[in-house]
Amino acid sequence: MGLLALGTALDWPQAKKRANQVRNWGIEQLLANWQRAKGKERDALLWGDEVEYLVVAVDDEAKKARLSLAQAEILKSLAQDEALWKAGTSSGQHDGEEPPHFHPEFGRFMLEATPGRPWGIDFKDLLKVESNMKWRRVVAKSHMAPNEYPITLTTFPRLGTKDDYIRPYYPPSGPALRSQFVPDEIANPHIRFPTLAANIRSRRGRKVELNVPVFKDKNTPQPFKDPTINYNLHNWPEDDDVRNGAAKDDHVYMDAMAFGMGSCCLQITFQAKNMTEGRKLYDQLSPLGPILLALTAATPIYKGFLVDTDVRWNQISNAVDDRTREELGEVPLQNDRWRIPKSRYASNSTYISQDPRLRKEYLDPDLTVDEDIKKRLMDDGMDELLATHFAHLFIRDPLVIFSEDLEKLDLNKADHFENLQSTNWQHMRFKPPPPEKDDIGWRVEFRSMEIQMTDFENAAFSIFIVLITRAILSFNLNFYIPIQRTTENMETAHARNAVLDRKFYFRKDPFSSHSPRRHQHSSNGSAISSAASSACNTPPPSPPLGPVESEYDFMTIEDIVNGSTDGTFPGLIPLVESYLNSVNVDVETRCSLARYLDLIRKRANGTLWTGAKWIREFVTSHSAYKQDSVVSEEICYDLVKAVDEMSVKEGRNGTIGWELLTGPGR
Ligand code: ADP
Ligand code: MG
Ligand code: MG
Ligand code: MG
Repeated sequence: MGLLALGTALDWPQAKKRANQVRNWGIEQLLANWQRAKGKERDALLWGDEVEYLVVAVDDEAKKARLSLAQAEILKSLAQDEALWKAGTSSGQHDGEEPPHFHPEFGRFMLEATPGRPWGIDFKDLLKVESNMKWRRVVAKSHMAPNEYPITLTTFPRLGTKDDYIRPYYPPSGPALRSQFVPDEIANPHIRFPTLAANIRSRRGRKVELNVPVFKDKNTPQPFKDPTINYNLHNWPEDDDVRNGAAKDDHVYMDAMAFGMGSCCLQITFQAKNMTEGRKLYDQLSPLGPILLALTAATPIYKGFLVDTDVRWNQISNAVDDRTREELGEVPLQNDRWRIPKSRYASNSTYISQDPRLRKEYLDPDLTVDEDIKKRLMDDGMDELLATHFAHLFIRDPLVIFSEDLEKLDLNKADHFENLQSTNWQHMRFKPPPPEKDDIGWRVEFRSMEIQMTDFENAAFSIFIVLITRAILSFNLNFYIPIQRTTENMETAHARNAVLDRKFYFRKDPFSSHSPRRHQHSSNGSAISSAASSACNTPPPSPPLGPVESEYDFMTIEDIVNGSTDGTFPGLIPLVESYLNSVNVDVETRCSLARYLDLIRKRANGTLWTGAKWIREFVTSHSAYKQDSVVSEEICYDLVKAVDEMSVKEGRNGTIGWELLTGPGR
């Protein structure tokens, strides 16, 4: 989380005046830190996951499930526990592992849990992840009221409806969010969060707008006009938004940051051995972002309606979109500096690796960059690729500024740098070592995945991504495609059932060095070892490069994950298997890992369902469902109970795996 400094937060008109100062100081901090850390070598290959939960309070008598705003109390109680652990007096030990860390999140109904210490490179660590995640859930639960549960749904199905879906109840609306659906009390009360929400709204000049296409069922009204919207409110100037057309027909309309930042996700951070390796991982993992988003799809409901999309991503993107009308291109540029094609929360737009395989055609030709900042960075010796990356992130304004921090620039800190860095929520994040901690290296964060309902799934996706990074480094894999294709893939991943029904741009030959020379693949993965060894030899002189378009294809996720039947692409799972073959993993570990890889394989070929599909089926086969897209309180209650039961049952059985995760009887 970071950035939980206390102080006087500036409202937007004040913050805007100091934006340049914060940006410039942030760049000076970045430069000082980069000079200090760029030669860091031999850092350990560590990694860590982040799991986010909704805290749901269940009322079995009334048959209602509600969000509980108990974050602060639960975290306080957890912190006391952590203190006991540190003192060695806690009874709740777990295989000698350090107690997990719990963090606050934007929603006052959310918790985040990370392992007690980052995982190491040892394969044995991979096998601890699932039980550690289950342990985290048990620990979290033990600090909740008896009727409260940590639920790993990405979004609460009835957030923002007219009923009393939060405990304690507060009516909308408040001065920070000005939402007609949710109260300000829905957000973490730490001054950072309401300020963030208010300053996004204020900078933008109106409320944020989320319009999600409704899922049209037999009895869904045509056209669908979101019946929960009140067009007659006059409490805030922003109440005009809906009268000015903010809500679209056939869409579920939402108007506040909480609808996006109140979603739960699964993030993985890797530490590289040095900056060069970190930059390579950043680039190579980037094209996988949309693929893993579609594979983990788990978000088919908003504000009490089934929607026609399967993932959360664009909703968060819109929920924190602070761009003005000028920046959006809705009116001519007059006061603002440039058009900005994407929200602060979006797929990433830069490649940063000094890799001979990175062709300039892969870069975004329309990238918006602050040229002065780029020049400042390059004047101090930063190379153009990395300078461009940061000069792109720094086109944004800092949103939350504490006046106390503006008195003196401290080059041994990263607070101003992090102010911009941590509010650029892209699907990859390149994390420089924090200046105050010498033992932390260059890290890369993979941020697109949706949280899964069970920890078996959360562990499987974490482990899969870890193994892919090992394969990328070991075989020097090349997944480069033009970065705009990844942006398009991100949109594609939103479609209902994209995992099976849609195709994605993906590079055909992951072994290609400089040239588009093709390797012959007789069957999945068989070319891997020869390609891996040929990568170590001096490459033959490269023939001229072919057109970039010939390097990638339009593939199904099944092709990408399991390999295409015509041998065009070997498949991510076969690549991981080849990697495991090349490193002598013992049989037992190999078998244990196979369970996780099997989940990914079967998710990709449709044998196992995504969470989104399972939730849809749960709703549409519920006896109270009226084929009208409405997810009623009763259905929501039963759904939450079923999801909790699934994760608890899983915990009890210990070894339970994907038999739970198939179709109807999941
Ligand atoms: P953020 O919310 O800013 O992404 P967190 O601190 O919540 O960061 O979580 C980052 C994850 O990175 C955690 O799982 C943590 O265990 C892990 N982690 C911490 N230190 C390292 C490190 N040096 N290398 C890799 N991972 C790390
Ligand atoms: Mg975190
Ligand atoms: Mg988080
Ligand atoms: Mg994170």
